[in-house]
Amino acid sequence: MSEKMLKFVKIGQQTPPKRDVNSRKDDFNEIYDEFISDKAKLQSSRCSQCGVPFCQVHCPLSNNIPDWLKLTAEGRLQEAYQLSQSTNNMPEVCGRICPQDRLCEGNCVIEQSGHGTVTIGSMEKYITDNAWEQGWVKPIKVTKEKKQSIGIIGAGPAGLAAAEQLRKDGYQITVYDRYDRPGGLLIYGIPNFKLEKFVVERRTNLLKESGINFELNFEVGKDLTLDQLRKKHDALLIATGVYKAREINIPGSDLDNIFPAMDFLTASNKKGLGDQVAAFDKGIINAEGKDVVVIGGGDTAMDCVRTSIRQKAKSVKCLYRRDKENMPGSAREVANAEEEGVEFVWLSSPKEFKGKNKIEKIIVDQIELGEPDETGRRKPKIKDGSHYEINADMVIKSLGFDPEDLPNLFGNPNLKVTQWGTIKADFDTLETNLDGVFAAGDIVRGASLVVWAIKDGRDVAASIKKFLQSKLIETNKVA
Ligand SMILES: Cc1cc2nc3c(=O)[nH]c(=O)nc-3n(C[C@H](O)[C@H](O)[C@H](O)COP(=O)(O)OP(=O)(O)OC[C@H]3O[C@@H](n4cnc5c(N)ncnc54)[C@H](O)[C@@H]3O)c2cc1C
Ligand code: SF4
Repeated sequence: MSEKMLKFVKIGQQTPPKRDVNSRKDDFNEIYDEFISDKAKLQSSRCSQCGVPFCQVHCPLSNNIPDWLKLTAEGRLQEAYQLSQSTNNMPEVCGRICPQDRLCEGNCVIEQSGHGTVTIGSMEKYITDNAWEQGWVKPIKVTKEKKQSIGIIGAGPAGLAAAEQLRKDGYQITVYDRYDRPGGLLIYGIPNFKLEKFVVERRTNLLKESGINFELNFEVGKDLTLDQLRKKHDALLIATGVYKAREINIPGSDLDNIFPAMDFLTASNKKGLGDQVAAFDKGIINAEGKDVVVIGGGDTAMDCVRTSIRQKAKSVKCLYRRDKENMPGSAREVANAEEEGVEFVWLSSPKEFKGKNKIEKIIVDQIELGEPDETGRRKPKIKDGSHYEINADMVIKSLGFDPEDLPNLFGNPNLKVTQWGTIKADFDTLETNLDGVFAAGDIVRGASLVVWAIKDGRDVAASIKKFLQSKLIETNKVA
């Protein structure tokens, strides 16, 4: 592990430095030190203003990257910030956690000519962090309040982006969330070492100061049904994300110390936020001193292995049934995990969990890859009689997420869903089959990315606005 990385890991997730939530001066920012002041100008000036901005085309928000880089290179940082925030509700979040290698940076013309990409994500983060520091990021000041109200179920990036856009237009907004804090996966899924929690809190506090009302610890389906909520608001948005963890049904699955990824990451994030987490403090859902095995090969699995390293696990293995070339996760994340000391066990699939009460060993089948399946990835096949054992005293299952059964949970069997359980929404308007009920984010797309959730939140806000305007015209006609 490089010295820089080792220092970063040592900072650990469990002992966050005391800090003001409005300050960006945080130990985790050390990795971005190189982007301050003159160096930011230098980095921005590397943009060739090529006239074929593939970076912008491959950014889901169509961010005007060349222009905000040009403004930064000229030292016009406030204008760069104004331009950047005009298309993105959370540029400092995307700058930190977008998979830039697959989006903007992966399509930078300079990268393709072999000179190394302009570090667009870091620049986006720098521009907005600087704006916060300078006091340029201000709550919304509504000039004319509107009477119509919108209920938003889910305080993740899709719900929050929609809330902000609609509040700018003067609508009355209430965001409902079953968690005790707003932010969705930004607060309890994505680990602190990728996205510091003060960055999320700073944003959600700003929305509160903008007059958006948050009803937390409020579970739709339990505290009120969907139809009861519809009666309270002129329009509703469902932005509940996808949370049903995919299971591994093999013998021994009920042994202790086998956890779903979200339980492990939520406990870790809550600890990082200073909460009491009894199961963590008792050493149960805590990787310290343990031989940890994470099963799965996506980005969530990478977050689990890297969190385990930071919790000082004795060893961390990642068990994945395909090989490195066929992994679904970002290559950059895998490289980071390898650099931090994670051992990847490719072409391996768990056959049985063994132990007295707690997990002690995993019997693992060896896999060979067959012909490509319908997704283009080669199909895994068990090699007969090839199994072997590995030691484990903690297992984290990270096999992906499916939507919960929302029609049932919400007490409305008429809400239409697809065969995968995602909500069926009109492609153009994002309206569901229920009048005045819209849907956005992962609950429509399936597990995706923050930047797409923000895009959907902005799009659905525009549709809700149109819907409410026509509803108002209708009401006035009748009156
Ligand atoms: C571990 C992990 C790491 C990730 N890392 C990245 C990354 O690095 N980069 C990236 O771009 N994307 C990442 N993602 C994906 C990204 O977080 C999601 O695509 C994004 O958060 C989806 O936004 P959303 O608003 O649709 O849903 P969510 O963020 O899931 O928010 C949904 C909200 O709805 C609430 N809710 C659900 N049901 C109810 C109910 N019945 N009543 C009230 N509230 C309810 C939930 O509590 C939650 O707060 C990651 C995902 C995971 C799981
Ligand atoms: S939002 Fe994401 S894809 Fe778009 S410019 Fe920023 S980092 Fe790149």
